[in-house]
Amino acid sequence: MGLNVLSAEISHETNTFNIRPTDVQAFRDRYLLDGPAAIGAKGARNTELAGLLDVGREHGWDITHVISAAAGPGGRVTNAAFETLLTPLIRAASVGEWDGVFLMLHGAMVTEDHDDGEGEILRRLRAVVGPDLPVAVTLDPHANVTRAMCARAQILVSFTTYPHVDVRATGRRAAELLDRTMTGDIHPHTIRAHRPMLEEANGGRTDIGPMVQRHAMARAFEAQKGVYAISINGGFPCADIQEVGPTVLVTGEAANPALAPMADELAEDIWARRHDALNDYLSVEAAAAVARDWQRGASPLIIADYADNPGSGAYGDAPALLAALLEARVGDACFGPLIDAEAAAQLQDGDIGDERTLAIGGKTAPEFGGGPLDVTGTLMWHGEGRVVGDGPILGGQERSFGKTAVLRVAGIDILIVSIPHQMLDLQQFRAFGIDPSGRSVVALKSMQHFRAAFAPIAGRIIVCDSGALCTTRYGLLPYENVPRPIFPLDDA
Ligand SMILES: [Zn+2]
Repeated sequence: MGLNVLSAEISHETNTFNIRPTDVQAFRDRYLLDGPAAIGAKGARNTELAGLLDVGREHGWDITHVISAAAGPGGRVTNAAFETLLTPLIRAASVGEWDGVFLMLHGAMVTEDHDDGEGEILRRLRAVVGPDLPVAVTLDPHANVTRAMCARAQILVSFTTYPHVDVRATGRRAAELLDRTMTGDIHPHTIRAHRPMLEEANGGRTDIGPMVQRHAMARAFEAQKGVYAISINGGFPCADIQEVGPTVLVTGEAANPALAPMADELAEDIWARRHDALNDYLSVEAAAAVARDWQRGASPLIIADYADNPGSGAYGDAPALLAALLEARVGDACFGPLIDAEAAAQLQDGDIGDERTLAIGGKTAPEFGGGPLDVTGTLMWHGEGRVVGDGPILGGQERSFGKTAVLRVAGIDILIVSIPHQMLDLQQFRAFGIDPSGRSVVALKSMQHFRAAFAPIAGRIIVCDSGALCTTRYGLLPYENVPRPIFPLDDA
């Protein structure tokens, strides 16, 4: 008889400024799967679940996986959706005999009733399994990790990369620690250090900059006796909640007095280097000017619209950058995704090659990134927006943009979709007849994840802030609940 492990994946990054609630349908649009379906779809990919299954096989565990659910980042999770996600977990937790629980949480969920969604998940779990059962949690480093989360799980382990390419490896690390805890080899708890900031200076990016050094330091700390995992979370700034911001978590032997100083040393470095931002956020006009002068035939210029990243809960419908590219007469380009279900639906009728005139984008919150843009172009593609990724993050995993169309306007192929996703895999263009590596200019909506697949084809990458909902100009957002003072709102 192997050890009995209960597992569940409940993942959401909630942008509390987004006016659209995240309901059950939003989870269905990304994925809402029971255990067997989740294992079939995700059990051998770059997922936490795959890492858990790897370790479970090696140790002969009996794993009961009850749910995998994730929605695209958006507004507060409705109470109905939260109950739908939690019910299978709490039901299984209360009826089974468990040696441990493994939860795959993003770590930035805010619901209608709970500012700390994950803290509430763990509270309800503890209410049925008691205070001592080993519980391991994997997190995205864009988690806003609360004191309650650390009090209710012994083990918390975040991805160490942004772009997140080590998701499966993180599942493995956490599962190995759960095994050692269940067998009595270790007795971990998790210490949390925090500084009064909305996010780490570079949003937690790990390809360059200070995070590279911090992770090297963390790996060195982990080589010490009684230190099991160090997680450095950049935080998620688009959440108007009390416990927002970067955290350092040190999971180690409960009796080890060295854990808190380690957490503090890393957190202090995040604070000390809070001004060391690496991105130069261009205006859309400045970005378009670079694109206008970009040499045709060279490797593509990639322009990331950082502020309108659907991957952090922006609406993804801001047309400001597209308008600037059209104004600058930048041809031989592609732009996407533009999240506009109404326009995508309108473009489902008619034949490929038809000329179409319509208003696209800017319909949700024109004050963030501009109002609707009237365009006339040629319909290049329409249909269901199914994508199977082939890049480092999404390889082998399926996603859907819902109803999708490509409209070519003045030499720019505009990918218009219904279900929000950020651009992070070349297949998200290629599946719709657009080859980004063959274009002079590729404009996309993403902050950092796009680099995993697009940096290898890029001649140059620039980043712009279109003024959309995830603008880095935080003073434009109506924060009311974050504790003050907080950086950078109260820089002085
Ligand atoms: Zn993340």
